[in-house]
Amino acid sequence: MKNPRQVGTHALVSSHKGKRRQGASKRLPRGARKLQREQRRGWDPHARRKELLAEETGTIVRTAQTSIALCYPNPYHTAMSSLGYQVIYRMMNERPSIAAERVVLPDDVDEYRRRRQAPLAIESGRPLSDFDLLAFSVAYDLDIPGFFDLLDLANIPILRSERQAYHPPVLLGGPLTASNALPFGPFIDLAVIGDGELAVAALLDALEKATSREDFLARADGIPGVWIPELHGDRVPPVQKVTVGALPAVGQIVTRHTELSNMFLVEASRGCPRFCKFCLVRNKESPMREPELEAVLRHIPEWAPRVGFVGAAVSEWSGIREALRRVIAMGKGVGVSSLRADRLDEEFVDLLARGGYKTMTVASDAPSQRLRNQMAKAIKTRHLLNAARLAKAAGMKKLKLYVIIGIPGETDDDISELIEFTKECSALMPTALGLSPLVPKLHTPLGDAPFAGVSTVDRTLKRLRKELGGVAEIRSTSAKWAWVEYRMSQGGQDAGLAALQAWKNGGGYRAWADAMASVEERAALEKANQFALWPAAGMR
Ligand code: SF4
Repeated sequence: MKNPRQVGTHALVSSHKGKRRQGASKRLPRGARKLQREQRRGWDPHARRKELLAEETGTIVRTAQTSIALCYPNPYHTAMSSLGYQVIYRMMNERPSIAAERVVLPDDVDEYRRRRQAPLAIESGRPLSDFDLLAFSVAYDLDIPGFFDLLDLANIPILRSERQAYHPPVLLGGPLTASNALPFGPFIDLAVIGDGELAVAALLDALEKATSREDFLARADGIPGVWIPELHGDRVPPVQKVTVGALPAVGQIVTRHTELSNMFLVEASRGCPRFCKFCLVRNKESPMREPELEAVLRHIPEWAPRVGFVGAAVSEWSGIREALRRVIAMGKGVGVSSLRADRLDEEFVDLLARGGYKTMTVASDAPSQRLRNQMAKAIKTRHLLNAARLAKAAGMKKLKLYVIIGIPGETDDDISELIEFTKECSALMPTALGLSPLVPKLHTPLGDAPFAGVSTVDRTLKRLRKELGGVAEIRSTSAKWAWVEYRMSQGGQDAGLAALQAWKNGGGYRAWADAMASVEERAALEKANQFALWPAAGMR
């Protein structure tokens, strides 16, 4: 399906945000204003993308009859750490009649808005509105403002109902769809729920044969895992899961401008053999799928300086140690995306240190042993302490510990246990705590658990900061933003409309709280239960 109207690079954008920010810029001191003016004079949106392209290995540059913009609602630095995004990029470009290019959220959204500059494809520099399909990859509930920004900057109406026949259809995919895609309903034409690889071929067939947007949706209707809000309302299909035959998924582009700098990504396993009650990747919903060791290693290119083994439970993959040994023997650095403390021993940690690890990162996932047991997190305090000892012995410099707080039934005693435990760890080596309030996700046993509340979480964070000040570094998701995430992860389509309102009103916490005031809190959970769509919560 070709886009019958091409929209120029200098898209006109709605002005509500521009006005607010222009006002803010007037308050800048004179020197800063002068500097800003000078920077703007030399501002060139193509310079940044050319600079990024020059530092990439693996870029696919091609033209074809049908063009797809693969949109990432976060800046380049984050986008290029997403293996799923890279996999879809390669899969789509394997089809001769399709050219897929990347469009990421600009680093300087405000400057783009001030200049009425549309987001540009990294490969060709074409404006976003120029493509036949906009395919968004969304990882996280709070990526929705970035989604709004990209459409708005491209002068494409955010609400589906306001778009015209000449606007490209908007497709949603990515990890968020395995949890709750409903809030995106008013803005998208269709979504692929779960593992996107399964629907790609059928969707591309539908796109290429379609004569109009309606025809495209009619052809896509019935593809397993495809949700079309206009036709299906709130009936979201079950989450699609690939079989082991689709693995390993491997990266395409290596660059130093990303969180996983100069790292070739390979997904050595998908799913998990464990049953943690808060987790979307637990065995019941996402069983462990493991490709053969040789099938994984075969994909690692000679030129890659570092190799990142990705997967929710990659330290459980039977081939992980041999894979690390072989990659290190090739002279490459390694990364492992998740380490279970009870899988670690001297040999494993030594391999990590030889592969360049300086920080041992493990998840406790609850402040006390009692709560870890309650959440079926089969990790003991002794495993975590052992991870710290092994890391120290291997010469690592830091221990990073991820902990969930605000768990149902959590008491002051549980937090006291975390404080004592952190002191014990920091006596061994410098320790950092990464604290996240529990945000109950649909498709998990805790999907109907309450959110602890902003004041409760704040009180816990305050206590931890006070009692661990000078003992450990503490980083936390703010209680307020965890609440916003909770509302989006449990919300229905009206939560998406509220998010749009919050974004229009500046996107601060107050704007979100006001916009959410009239929205049903657990609409998605209720819809899932009402239509018996899929197990939304409480499953064992
Ligand atoms: S938290 Fe980790 S170990 Fe637990 S189910 Fe999820 S991926 Fe598996």
